[in-house]
Amino acid sequence: MFTPGFDPSQEYAQALDRADPISTYRDLFHLPKASTGKPCVYLCGHSLGLMPKAVRSLIDEELRIWADLGVEGHFQGTAPWYRYHETVRESGARLLGARPDEVVFMNSLTVNLHLLMATFYRPTTSRSAILIDEPTFPSDRYAIVSQLQHHGFDRTSLLTCSAAEDEIEELLDREGRRIALVFLSGVNFLTGRVLDLARLAKAAHRQGCVFGVDLAHAIGNVPLALHDWNIDFAVWCSYKYLNGGPGAVGGAYVHYRHGQDRSLPRFAGWWGNDPDIRFRMQLEPDFIPQIGADGWQVSNPPILSLAPLRVSLRLFDEVSLTTLRNKSLRLTGYLLDLLMRLSSDRLEILTPVAAEQRGCQLSLRIKQCPREVQLALSNAGVSCDFREPDVLRVAPVPLYNSFEDVWNFAQILTGSACTNL
Ligand SMILES: *Cc1c(COP(=O)(O)O)cnc(C)c1O
Repeated sequence: MFTPGFDPSQEYAQALDRADPISTYRDLFHLPKASTGKPCVYLCGHSLGLMPKAVRSLIDEELRIWADLGVEGHFQGTAPWYRYHETVRESGARLLGARPDEVVFMNSLTVNLHLLMATFYRPTTSRSAILIDEPTFPSDRYAIVSQLQHHGFDRTSLLTCSAAEDEIEELLDREGRRIALVFLSGVNFLTGRVLDLARLAKAAHRQGCVFGVDLAHAIGNVPLALHDWNIDFAVWCSYKYLNGGPGAVGGAYVHYRHGQDRSLPRFAGWWGNDPDIRFRMQLEPDFIPQIGADGWQVSNPPILSLAPLRVSLRLFDEVSLTTLRNKSLRLTGYLLDLLMRLSSDRLEILTPVAAEQRGCQLSLRIKQCPREVQLALSNAGVSCDFREPDVLRVAPVPLYNSFEDVWNFAQILTGSACTNL
């Protein structure tokens, strides 16, 4: 039992919502409509977070500045475009447990992974391997294999391991001396499992490996302390739990001790240059990287794609990740309570149930007629996602989901038994 006093009735779910101190934040988001015309039960925040209503007016404001000021928008207005990416830095750093100068919002996740691997994957003939955890998100795997090939290595230099601390540590003990880079997911995209990054960073460093992490499903979801955990580098996208919108600007983190080192090799572009001399153009032929994560920027950022992030991260600042995590544990715990009542012939919960090993998302293996179950959910106005062949991923998000959403989902799932058995 994850919720004290748990009771499976709808009234109980409604009572939990009434007692929830942040229940009003739901009203600040647009909830997509189901085919019935009613708001859908949106449990897809792990894939695309919802749109905060205030986004529209901030985008309108940037368009107005463009219309009224043209190029002067780079230096005028309340948030001049020249330093626009800096407006989200501190909020991002709070979510990451990082120093602000360790954080930069730029590009998208896979691009950032390539840029940081240009610096942090420095293979030698005796130490060329990269260790990743499985299941691996395809884009990460493609990026990593292409980096191996770029350096003249083949797939034999790719080591994989299931996403479990003991197994990763064992593999590091065995093979650590030939591993150049360990790259793991903070929260696994398919299973929803949270890894103990502090412990794994120590294990990787003991073997002399660089330790990088993918935070696509971790940022805005679970507490992080990248600086104290001594993580070397990290990348993330902002359209999942951060609600930055489709194709939102992603981000990169570089530990302070690396950020101070201007001599680190990297792929340069004018936005990584010192901002005080950046616009001197041809008068500054030599690239002098900025200190900190900003020194890994390449191009000037898309303002219209950063604006939604400013709105959304303000909400995270207001509520605080501690409050969100608190509700998230209860909300997802409540979902577990409801699902535990279903027979194990029908359902397997792939996500660990221990609080420290799960975030918002639960991954459910549907053992009987998975496609029919998915269809029944979708017809009843539930938005969650289905991964072939039989995994349903559902993420109650504490910023905008209610206990009643979770109750509705469980109710529909329970009623969607296989008719042909
Ligand atoms: C969502 C996600 C991505 C997305 O990559 P983009 O480059 O932003 O398209 C990459 N890796 C993981 C693990 C993800 O969950």
